[in-house]
Amino acid sequence: MNLILLGPPGAGKGTQAEHLHASLRLAKLSTGDMLRASAASGSELGLKLKSIMAAGQLVSDDIMIDLIRDRIREADCAPGFILDGFPRTIPQAEALDAMLEAEGKSLNVVIELKVNDSELIARVSGRFSCAACGAGYHDSFKRPKQEGVCDSCGASAFKRREDDNAATMAKRLEAYNLQTAPILPYYAKRGLLKSIDGMAPIDEVTRQINALVRPGVAA
Ligand code: AMP
Repeated sequence: MNLILLGPPGAGKGTQAEHLHASLRLAKLSTGDMLRASAASGSELGLKLKSIMAAGQLVSDDIMIDLIRDRIREADCAPGFILDGFPRTIPQAEALDAMLEAEGKSLNVVIELKVNDSELIARVSGRFSCAACGAGYHDSFKRPKQEGVCDSCGASAFKRREDDNAATMAKRLEAYNLQTAPILPYYAKRGLLKSIDGMAPIDEVTRQINALVRPGVAA
C-alpha cells in the first residue's frame, strides 16, 4: 500500500503518518523531517535549506524529487510507504508518477486532511516535540502527562520548530494554497483522492483513515 497524506501545515499529517506507520508497518517518508535533518547537519546545502524553510517557502522541485527518488528505492519502502509533505507542487506530483512507474509501483490512495486556517494557526503555534524521540505535544491540546517529561521515552528536553510562528505560518499557508492545493484535482480526476474532516479529534481522524486503508477492519 502506497499512500499520500495531503493537507496544509498543521492539518495532522505527521500525527496520522505515525499511526499508519505503527499499525501498518509502512515506511514513513516526511520530507519536512528529511530537510530538517539536512539543515541540522550544518552543510552548505543544509544552511540554504534552513533559510528557505525559515522563510516559509518551498524548496526547489529538483532537490525534492531527487530526495524522494532515492528514498523510495530503499528496502523499507518495498512493503509500502506513506508520503507526508510530498508532493507539494504539480511538477513533484508528475515526477512521482514517473518514478513510481519506473519502479513498477503505484499509488493506492491520496488522503486529504481538511482543516480551516484559524484552527491551523492555533495548532501550529502551540506545538512542540520531544528532543530525544520526536513525540509530538501541544500547549493546549496535548501536554505530557507529567509536566516536563516525555510520555513516550521519559526524556526532559523539548523543542519547537523555527517555522512554527505566526509570520512564517502565513507564508506556509500561502505556499499551500498557491502551489499545493492545485494537486487535489490532479488526483481527484484519477479517482485517488479521499477527503477527511481533519477538524475532528485525532482518534476520529485515525478511525476514518483506517476505514479507507483497511476496509472491514475495526479501528
Ligand atoms: P513540513 O514539515 O512538511 O511542514 O515542511 C517544512 C518545510 O520544509 C516547508 O515549509 C518547506 O520549506 C519544506 N518542504 C517540505 N516538503 C517539501 C516539498 N515537498 N517541496 C518543497 N519544500 C518542502
